[in-house]
Amino acid sequence: MGALALSDQILDFKSWAKTNAEAPVTRVPTTCNGCGNRCAIFAYVKNGRLWRIEGNPEANGNQGLICPKGHGYIHDLYNPDRIRSPLKRVDGRFQPISWEQAYKEIAQKINLIIMDKGPQSIFWINYPQPNHAYALRLMHALGSPHYFTHGSTCYTARNAGWNYTVGKLPSNDLANSRYIMIIGRNPAGGIDLGQVADITKAKSKGAKLVVVDPRHSETAILADEWLAIKPGTDLALLLAMINVMVKEGLYDRDFVQKKTVGFQELEEQIINYPPEWAEKVCEIPAKTIMRITREMAALKPKVLLHRGYHGAFGCQYLNSFQTVRALAIANSLLGNINREGGIYFAQSAELGELQPKHPVPEGPKVPKADGTGIPGRYPLGSYGDGIAHAIPELALRGELKCGFVYHHNPLRTNPNPQRAIAGYKKLELLVAIDTVLSETASIAHYVLPESFYLEREEAVDTKHSGKRGQVSIQQKVVERMFDTRPGTQIIIELAQHLGVGRFFEFNLEEANELRLKPLGNSLAGLKQKGVLFVGKPWKEGFDKIDTPSGKVEIYSSTLEKLGFPPIPRWEEPLVSPDPKDPHSFRLLHGKQAFHTHAMTANQPYLMAISHRYDLIRLWMNRRRGELLGLKDGGLVQIKSLVGEGKIRVKLTEGIHPSCVWLPSGYGVFSKHLTTAYDLGLSYNDFLPTLFDPAVGHAMSSEIIVQVKKV
Ligand code: SF4
Repeated sequence: MGALALSDQILDFKSWAKTNAEAPVTRVPTTCNGCGNRCAIFAYVKNGRLWRIEGNPEANGNQGLICPKGHGYIHDLYNPDRIRSPLKRVDGRFQPISWEQAYKEIAQKINLIIMDKGPQSIFWINYPQPNHAYALRLMHALGSPHYFTHGSTCYTARNAGWNYTVGKLPSNDLANSRYIMIIGRNPAGGIDLGQVADITKAKSKGAKLVVVDPRHSETAILADEWLAIKPGTDLALLLAMINVMVKEGLYDRDFVQKKTVGFQELEEQIINYPPEWAEKVCEIPAKTIMRITREMAALKPKVLLHRGYHGAFGCQYLNSFQTVRALAIANSLLGNINREGGIYFAQSAELGELQPKHPVPEGPKVPKADGTGIPGRYPLGSYGDGIAHAIPELALRGELKCGFVYHHNPLRTNPNPQRAIAGYKKLELLVAIDTVLSETASIAHYVLPESFYLEREEAVDTKHSGKRGQVSIQQKVVERMFDTRPGTQIIIELAQHLGVGRFFEFNLEEANELRLKPLGNSLAGLKQKGVLFVGKPWKEGFDKIDTPSGKVEIYSSTLEKLGFPPIPRWEEPLVSPDPKDPHSFRLLHGKQAFHTHAMTANQPYLMAISHRYDLIRLWMNRRRGELLGLKDGGLVQIKSLVGEGKIRVKLTEGIHPSCVWLPSGYGVFSKHLTTAYDLGLSYNDFLPTLFDPAVGHAMSSEIIVQVKKV
């Protein structure tokens, strides 16, 4: 009898397994949220659960590829650390509450704060998302100018440098370039799948790749030549390259004459920066600088110096803005602006607006308290991004009283965490919108749980710009597992409870239809394909660009009027390691290809890669390490003005001796993130709160640490 029952069960299991294996699979085009690239993907669902993902081959951005982070992050859908309902902090502990209670209590508190300190005391900060226009609308509807992104800790210096030279941030036509020079950018590590694919295409056609980086990065592995520059001196290299182009007449005369202003002034000043001078500053031999410049010039205009991102000049140094200006000018002298194989102005979809159907709020009447765009404060700062790392200071001064933090974790991603914690804790009301209890969410008064990206629709996106513009869509793939809501719905419902619902009488479906209207595409068509090409194809050349002169501004009168050098000139980094002190290093940092900073650190499969390959270590030049008595894998203490911590070292020839390098994504201190908690260190633990005097960026490589054997 017993044997019969067992065989029945085995038969049942087999039939269950067969039914499951043969269950139909559905495919949903959507968008990966594993990092800011928002790659277009197809998600497959089987038996109501996520089955697998693959890249959408039609996407400009990822060209059908998916990176390890994207494959790992999907599993966070089922991560037990997810928040399951709205939470309220009572006596230091979170209690689940209803959405209605959360909205009502938040609205009551905000009304009191507005009465007491005015609407400008409220701020919103998010990592930019396609729905950020609605967050901005909410702040403006309330009368606050305080909408922020993470930009001041990431890219604002780069954007400002390009804006003041060619009027906007351009793209790199890597696939068609014959000579690519990448300074301090690591697309194979801080991953940009399309760029890596394009570099590979260019190389297969015979292009040369030169990578300039103090560290032998993942991109340097692909390079024909790696130049281990002294950190903080990229500006000297660029000035010397310009010097060679001008002195030897290697520049594109026709382009310079017709499309630029200020060449004569450049010619007068650049004589101060010969390669022999640069060699002493940046430690790249003068003859190498001359050779590379000549090699590039010989192949112009199908050559490019990569436009850059975070590393080298995104927000790293006191001289970052001038470095980007020099980079843009060097490209211009090669005549490659908006040229095939050079630097080009990507086509981006011009989305439709909610107005006139839905009125636009009047907008704030006061300037931003952080001083962005204000002469005498941070005139070159980005008003749209604001200076995110100024928020704790403004909160401590009582200028900001209430904050919404959405899809962002400033307590871990801002410099000087003790100061950031003090500032955010000073707020009378902190509301976090997140999927997990990050460091910031852990100290919030209320936490509103956002549905995981595979559980929600989102706003039509224009992320995939390129030789032809594209729109993309994030669609719901599986049913929501918990009492969570999509980000856009949360913004609209907050507005309704805060008394500004008249500006939010739309839903996501209608907003998406309105976004697509001028493009002539239907939402149904976009949902079916995931991405659609829109607008006209890119055309080479330009008549007029978006600068005051309509030309490339080698000399900028605007900068001169604001009191900044109109032509780039050498500027020392703010701080430098003491060459006589064996313990003194500059602290550099960057991404590993399988983590998006702290966001994916709690992902068990991705963290398993860190453990398996022993990657939670501080990179140090082998010779310097041995002078400190260290062996590979030995433990060190790192100490700065604001923080200290212990970590094991990786001794390597692949890093400049003057610096150490810490991978980002570690040092998580929220106990609610069970996989990532207390593993490794974050570079932010060692960074003081700094503001570049022109742009206001965080200058996050301007930090000297003492490293000692433990
Ligand atoms: S680069 Fe990777 S993590 Fe980022 S969006 Fe693309 S697939 Fe996702």
